[in-house]
Amino acid sequence: MRILVIEDETDMARYLCEGLRQADFEVHHASDAASGLRQAQEYKWDAMIVDRMLPDDQDGLSIIRTLRNQQNKTPVLVLSALASLDERVKGLREGGDDYLTKPFAFPELLARLDALTRRYANSAAEVSRSIKIADLSIDLSTRRVERAGQVINLQPREFRLLEYLARNQNQVVTRTMLLESVWDFHFDPGTNVIDVQISRLRTKIDKGHSTPLLHTVRGAGYKFGIDG
Ligand code: CA
Repeated sequence: MRILVIEDETDMARYLCEGLRQADFEVHHASDAASGLRQAQEYKWDAMIVDRMLPDDQDGLSIIRTLRNQQNKTPVLVLSALASLDERVKGLREGGDDYLTKPFAFPELLARLDALTRRYANSAAEVSRSIKIADLSIDLSTRRVERAGQVINLQPREFRLLEYLARNQNQVVTRTMLLESVWDFHFDPGTNVIDVQISRLRTKIDKGHSTPLLHTVRGAGYKFGIDG
């Protein structure tokens, strides 16, 4: 299990990271909102522990709000010294999945984390038949693709390409990954087959929309999502 801890207080961060590592989690730590948000967006996490009050302009809740607006549903446990009912409700309303006030007992943190990731795994299995990114929706059962309510007709290969990119949203997808997963080629055929399909798909998905979803990452490959 990979956990991202966003916490600015050094002692608390060390306590969390050491405790989680002892419990066999793979833990990464960010000490400010900007790097926390970046790591949350760039990598896949099984859960995040986010401190409510961070020293930047962005507090922990604004990180969660940003992620939820981008359809990032990684379960989040909010940690805070603010224990009032109002504050806890606010934390949950902003998209936190659970709220734990400091000081806390480590076994309680572990139990909540466990419940959170289990709930998430169940709901992820239920909704895995469709993918939504911004105003694009992909129904994996019926293979119906819509953007802003308009149906987009894709050829089978274009659909596989879109599905693969969407399943790996916000991550760089290399040409090798595409060749192996979408074309079943385990060698580079040395043709421009990918460029041609990407350009067709881009026309179908992005043309006429102000927010492009299919981005070229120079020298690396492609990235699908709201941010390029
Ligand atoms: Ca803090």
